[in-house]
Amino acid sequence: MEKILPDLEIPEDLLSRLIEHARQKYPLESCGILVGKNGKITRVYSMENIEKSSSSYLMAPEEQLRVFRKIEEEGLELSAIYHSHPHSPAFPSQRDVDYAFYPDSLILIISLMDQKVPQIGAFQIENGKIEKKVVKIMGKK
Ligand SMILES: [Zn+2]
Repeated sequence: MEKILPDLEIPEDLLSRLIEHARQKYPLESCGILVGKNGKITRVYSMENIEKSSSSYLMAPEEQLRVFRKIEEEGLELSAIYHSHPHSPAFPSQRDVDYAFYPDSLILIISLMDQKVPQIGAFQIENGKIEKKVVKIMGKK
């Protein structure tokens, strides 16, 4: 890895929203953007998966651009791009590796393979290499 990205810290209520979004879209993949600073997530943008697929996702380009502009204006960072895996583990698929276009942000995956116990995983993907990151859940009782 050319640059080691920070691990993620996500408040519990934001994580709940990610899981809720994944459940709403099930059996399709949900997707969106996690914004923050130095890996500390402060905001979640739920995006539309325009592929409407259960094995892939694509964010609407104009919606994505709008969020990217807002992030830049506010001096924040694109910490991670998230999506759900309705039927597979919280680990990047070959497609996720091939389509990792933002090497400065992490990929966060929410797996609903076990519906009762959603799993999450965050990864740095660069030049086909996958490195698992720690996700620290803040405010968890
Ligand atoms: Zn995936």
